[in-house]
Amino acid sequence: MLRLNDLVKIYPGPVAALKGVSLEIPEGLFGLLGPNGAGKSTLMNILAGLLEPTGGSVTLDGVDIVQDPRAVWSRLGYLPQDFGFYPSLSGAQMLDFLLQLKGIEAPQGRKTLVGELLERVNLADAAKRKVRTYSGGMRQRLGIAQAIAGNPRLVIVDEPTAGLDPEERQRFYRILAELGRDRIVLLSTHIVEDIATLCPRFAVIRGGRCVTSGGTSDARRRLEGRVFEGIVAPEALERIRGSHRVTQAVLVEGSMFRTRVQSAAGAQPSGFVQVPPTLEDVYFGVMDESRAADRAHGSHSPVAA
Ligand code: ADP
Repeated sequence: MLRLNDLVKIYPGPVAALKGVSLEIPEGLFGLLGPNGAGKSTLMNILAGLLEPTGGSVTLDGVDIVQDPRAVWSRLGYLPQDFGFYPSLSGAQMLDFLLQLKGIEAPQGRKTLVGELLERVNLADAAKRKVRTYSGGMRQRLGIAQAIAGNPRLVIVDEPTAGLDPEERQRFYRILAELGRDRIVLLSTHIVEDIATLCPRFAVIRGGRCVTSGGTSDARRRLEGRVFEGIVAPEALERIRGSHRVTQAVLVEGSMFRTRVQSAAGAQPSGFVQVPPTLEDVYFGVMDESRAADRAHGSHSPVAA
């Protein structure tokens, strides 16, 4: 279990990037969602031991990783957003180099370990090719290979699928799902659909605070019977805004809006049909609630200290 307790990070400025985040993250895939600037990377960097929090604590299976980062270093794998590559090395050479840097022990020999890791991420056939010739997805899988070397208890993956085509994305996710079977995999992204398909549990952070957390299916179920969709003219859209929470309004057919609404009491606007709730509905709903709470408390600048 990974436990975050009242985590605070204040950057010079001051900018309060995390304002007291508490979370319990069990084994399996856990999704961290939030808009740009929410504090996701700050959180990931603290968990990876690269950044010191201003306050609060983090424990991994009971061991405090803020107090004693070295104790968990070997139990941690990290694929950062901007994973650096050495384009003139082959995949196998680069992985071998990274294993040396990380001080990974390989009782059966590093070459064997490199081979096993490349096999695991489906790169065995490309082991001798220069990284320069790898696609984006192949590079990300090489990044995962170094992150899982040493069989870490916690794997942290920050925005892994940016720029990947759909097939590469699927392949990458299959690897993450497999990893999540017997360890904690924390996946940060702003693509809600990715979390919906992959993660049994998730949290949303906004303005440095956790605005919701729990099971993805439970969260969807709670909205059952309260989400409706219809295609309306601009004037009707404005009227509906007065009575319902409008979570999406996409311009279609030139001047009409495909509109998705949530209704606390389950009231169905005329011309709308009830639709099954998605995790996106959950996400837009909690974001809207959180913005409304900010307005009610007069906080217009969620990240300012
Ligand atoms: P996310 O990953 O969700 O986009 P970040 O953790 O990168 O969010 O950023 C959270 C907030 O902290 C933002 O307002 C960002 O501008 C600010 N921030 C991030 N890094 C620094 C830094 N090194 N110095 C000052 N402010 C920072």
